[in-house]
Amino acid sequence: MTNPVDAINGNEYDIRPGNVENTHFDVAIIGSGPAGYTASIYTSRAKLRTIVISGSLPGGQLMTTTEVENFPGFISGITGPELMMNMQQQSERFGTTIVVDEVTRVDFKTRPFKIFTGSTHYTSNSILISTGATPRKLGLKSEVDFSGKGVSYCATCDGPFFRNQDIIVVGGGDTALEEATFLTKFGKSVKIVHRRDKLRASKILQERAFENPKIEFIWNSSVIKIEGENKVAKVTIKDNNTGKETILNAGGLFVAIGHEPNTNIFRNQVELDERGYIILNNHTRTNIEGVFAAGDVHDHRYRQAITAAGFGCMAALDIERWLSESRGKEG
Ligand code: NAP
Repeated sequence: MTNPVDAINGNEYDIRPGNVENTHFDVAIIGSGPAGYTASIYTSRAKLRTIVISGSLPGGQLMTTTEVENFPGFISGITGPELMMNMQQQSERFGTTIVVDEVTRVDFKTRPFKIFTGSTHYTSNSILISTGATPRKLGLKSEVDFSGKGVSYCATCDGPFFRNQDIIVVGGGDTALEEATFLTKFGKSVKIVHRRDKLRASKILQERAFENPKIEFIWNSSVIKIEGENKVAKVTIKDNNTGKETILNAGGLFVAIGHEPNTNIFRNQVELDERGYIILNNHTRTNIEGVFAAGDVHDHRYRQAITAAGFGCMAALDIERWLSESRGKEG
């Protein structure tokens, strides 16, 4: 699968993977979505030594979004990848160290806090968790078998591979409708398969999808099987009311059914709710002093780029204050 940025506009995502000379920081930010980058802009600008460990998808979920029309400041909108590249470069301008690496383990039991990646480890006086959330799966074996072979979770990344093909999108939320609309630029037809007869998506996205002649809705239905030789060719759906099964020809299946918080590595380290989202106690503070969280990793209510950025800003200000208070106590 292609880097989403390349798929959009051919630009390179200019982050240097690899090692950095310094491994101790004032602020270590885990995750590089709008929350992480915004926080890093604030903390670096405040002259705090800041590292962002980006994870495997630098830029986070917005790298899988097409047009962002509601992020203030862009009169005609901006693509998600462009927005994230801007944030990254703005952050680097103030001296943030950004590394593309996956955090495999953390130790928040003692200070300085420790963050382990596959290749190295870092220490930090404070932590911001901004790891966001990951696309939910349908849970079919054939979904796993055909992942990357016609099954995708990112229309922006993979849409261009499905020119003139019949495409299915699963879901009834904003993501499903936004992706379906985007996919009509490439596909011959786009069918939205939704498990209910009512959409969860916002009115404006619904209207756009209903008006699009290439989009057809299949209500009260679930995908139960995906078949093909080496790539997706047929998708079986089942009517949830009648049980009737129908086989649809499709070259691509885009799953757009929501997200799960990326908090596995924080289990037993910070307090999580029953769905795995981080619990905040006092503004952006977790239950561990010196460890903060921002964005979709704790916020399952608003889940917008602008709210994640806002939480990132709040966390950065809280971290700055907490670090200077801690230093005051130590000194
Ligand atoms: P979402 O709002 O949680 O919607 C998920 C959809 O998938 C729902 O329609 C749900 O059906 C369906 N679904 C969930 N599990 C399923 C399963 N196992 N099988 C079949 N269908 C399943 O998720 P989202 O669309 O990714 O949006 C997440 C958040 O981001 C929302 O707050 C949204 O407003 C925001 N967002 C905004 C924009 C924008 O403003 N441009 C774009 C994208 C996302 P039910 O409806 O039956 O529950």
